[in-house]
Amino acid sequence: MLQENSLTITDVKAAYNRLLGISQQTPVLTSRTVNELTHSEVFFKCENFQRAGAFKFRGAYNALTQLSQAQKQQGVITFSSGNHAQAIALAGKLLNIPTTIVMPDDAPAVKQTATRGYGAEVILYNRHNTNREELTQSLARDRNLKLIPPYDHPQIVAGQGTAALELIQEVGELDFLLVPCGGGGLLSGCAIATKALSPKCRVIGVEPELADDATRSFYSKTLQTVHNPNTIADGARTPSLGKITFPIILNYVDDMVTVSESAIIRTMFFLWERLKIVVEPTGVLAAAALLEGIVTVPVARIGIILSGGNVDLTEIYNLKQ
Ligand SMILES: *Cc1c(COP(=O)(O)O)cnc(C)c1O
Repeated sequence: MLQENSLTITDVKAAYNRLLGISQQTPVLTSRTVNELTHSEVFFKCENFQRAGAFKFRGAYNALTQLSQAQKQQGVITFSSGNHAQAIALAGKLLNIPTTIVMPDDAPAVKQTATRGYGAEVILYNRHNTNREELTQSLARDRNLKLIPPYDHPQIVAGQGTAALELIQEVGELDFLLVPCGGGGLLSGCAIATKALSPKCRVIGVEPELADDATRSFYSKTLQTVHNPNTIADGARTPSLGKITFPIILNYVDDMVTVSESAIIRTMFFLWERLKIVVEPTGVLAAAALLEGIVTVPVARIGIILSGGNVDLTEIYNLKQ
């Protein structure tokens, strides 16, 4: 059994080998404009080009491959505001494992449609009056399904860490790595990989100002929560870090910062116009921290994880009006 407190680069490398030929080795983009603006060398790891549109496929596939034969036959269940749902649904389809997804009824339409498109059963709930974890646990018991949570799971963390592993493998050691943070699966996995492969690199987590629980937890060293934050970054609306991710973040992450809603929107448009790529609000958190000058890192080699690209463009269009 993989113990969360003993997660290391070995687990990230094992996940990398399981994902070889299955997940996308996503492109790393650079931009002269960005390098000039920041007086640095910036490498964007484009997980918006990952299968199912976000890095979540890495953890989901890694976790599903590790189930027992009996669990694979019974199927899995999860709760998610979207990208983990699609990732589990796709991984289940590839591995022939039935999937059930519990999703808020206000999750972006593209995400609901895509999840059903991969063959998952979708169960919607109202996030203002339902505890999604309790609902999911009772469904798991009743239907004998294995619960695969979106971030607080050792194989999910190890899988997400392959994004940083690939980036450092491709471009070499970094001075800084900026990573979006919701429940902290991506950040903790990337921090484990980075501290092993580029030990001098400072790892910085970025979350929305309106959902700053991880930043407060990091500074107070006690788990802080946030309730239904009204941020456009729907992948970071998680109530808190997890039992597994919080200690890893305290151990390996160097700093946590927050970005405003308007910074998130400006950065989406900047990446769209300058890099010609579509990145969802949660996906631009790390880029926003750099481009808006919240993290200042002159003359450095900086990695930025662009974590996903599943955006409801009609919603963004309405924002601009
Ligand atoms: C889930 C998600 C995040 C946050 O990941 P955590 O592992 O929960 O911290 C960031 N960006 C995107 C696009 C996501 O889907």
